[in-house]
Amino acid sequence: MDGLMQPRPLTIAHLFERVETLFADKHVIDADGTPTSYGAWAHRVRRLTSALTALDVAPGARVATLAANHRRHLEVYAAVPISKRVLHTLNVRLSAEHLVHIIEHAGDDVVFLDRRHLPLIRTCLDRLPGVRHWVVFPDGTDHALPNARFHHYEDLITAARAFEGSFEATFSGPEENLAAGLCYTSGTTGRPKGVLYSHRSTVLHCLGTMAAGLIGISERDVVLPVVPMFHANAWGLPYGALMAGADLVLPGPSADRVHLADLIARHRVTVAAAVPTVWTDLLPALQTRDCSWLRLLLGGGSAVTPQLSAAYEAAVGVPITHSWGMTEVSPVGAIGGLRSRHDDLDDDARRHVAAAQGRPAPLVNMRIMDVETGERLPHDGRSVGELQVAGPWVAGGYFAGEGADGFTADGWLHTGDLATVDEHGYLRLVDRIKDLIKSGGEWISSVELEAAIATHPDVEQVAVVARDHPRWVERPVAFVVLRADADTAVEQLREHLSRRIASWWMPDDFIVLDTIPLTGTGKLSKQALRESLRPA
Ligand code: ADP
Repeated sequence: MDGLMQPRPLTIAHLFERVETLFADKHVIDADGTPTSYGAWAHRVRRLTSALTALDVAPGARVATLAANHRRHLEVYAAVPISKRVLHTLNVRLSAEHLVHIIEHAGDDVVFLDRRHLPLIRTCLDRLPGVRHWVVFPDGTDHALPNARFHHYEDLITAARAFEGSFEATFSGPEENLAAGLCYTSGTTGRPKGVLYSHRSTVLHCLGTMAAGLIGISERDVVLPVVPMFHANAWGLPYGALMAGADLVLPGPSADRVHLADLIARHRVTVAAAVPTVWTDLLPALQTRDCSWLRLLLGGGSAVTPQLSAAYEAAVGVPITHSWGMTEVSPVGAIGGLRSRHDDLDDDARRHVAAAQGRPAPLVNMRIMDVETGERLPHDGRSVGELQVAGPWVAGGYFAGEGADGFTADGWLHTGDLATVDEHGYLRLVDRIKDLIKSGGEWISSVELEAAIATHPDVEQVAVVARDHPRWVERPVAFVVLRADADTAVEQLREHLSRRIASWWMPDDFIVLDTIPLTGTGKLSKQALRESLRPA
């Protein structure tokens, strides 16, 4: 017997109309501190949907953005999916080659872009005949546009009349499965592949990850996604803040630490999210400001070391909470933090629990599978295997039918991560399979080795990668960035490490750098480091 509840669709249109009617007095705040009420923002979103219609952008068409985190970008974030087009967020750090490939592959019809990316786009315009319209966000300067395919964003908004009806009412029940967003994986482990989010998956991800005890955003929060809006929808925070009616602070293109720290202090930010490299950089600037409103700092994308989290706890009173995710997982799959059962543990034991990637979000299933035999391993906190995930906001395939080998025969996603899960469901990442170092038939976890090296007080950043070795197949090499005032010698690092690891884990070399190269999403680029070790 079926239940008798209403088959109403889960849509971003509902989130939009909710914020428009319930939270019109709350604000999105831009990098220069200008607040725009959600009421005024929503009116512009309504105009933008009409502007897209005037440009003849069909339902289902891909509408791309190449832009920093700002309020106009948030307008596109809403207008595109609520009018049944598909929002494709492009990584602003892509090279011209990659941009051309991804825009073509996605079949983008329109691209909205920040003016600062115009010079790059000019260099590849003739290779992108499929893009019918380029829409340039203003940056306060007067500038000419390359040709008639280009438009000024504000001209489009001014010329359009706001759509007055209900967007939600245009969706039938099954249309909750319409595509709402498209985001490409970074391609660090192969060619970039498109992950196609639906309205339903986006709303469920929002509800699931924003629940109390997880990210738990409420109307009282002020949310700062430092993580770019192109990086898996800024981890769901913009839609989460809109659903809750929380104020959003969008920091613009600058990742300057003083700028970010000023925004956090001035706007009394309560929740902020960034990759660990950003948190490492930001700490000195935050230490000198009033951060007493902060309640949750999310770190994800790569492992947050316990030292970094502890340094935050000491300096600003809030640790960094781990969040594990992937573009394919919308992106949040698990969130760290402690349960009541951990209250009586001593500080060290609590830090150990907090260093785990955390518990799966509701509706997300996780299993650990033996890499060799493919058998399911117990959740005992010791058995290491590939993490596989399933759930209503986990990809079931890639755009244009690619990457079928990314999924198991029974429909679970291969994450490519090695992990353990304990009896309480806590996920702990051991390494990415491709980052493991195979030395003499044994595996060395680059993540564990990095954590051990990071215990040295003068180490600011560390990345360990494999170098080919004639006898041992691979051996670890550590790249380190030392604190500005440190004069630690490599011998001292070795000596420090020798007390913490098995001797055969000792890196063959320590290479001290001023900076470690970053990936397009701001993680330490192990690929670039590995390449730097290859003989020329
Ligand atoms: P990419 O890193 O390839 O640019 P994603 O942003 O989708 O693409 O990254 C997903 C991967 O990032 C995961 O498979 C995992 O290896 C790593 N990752 C994500 N969150 C964490 C975390 N909290 N701790 C450690 N690694 C993480």
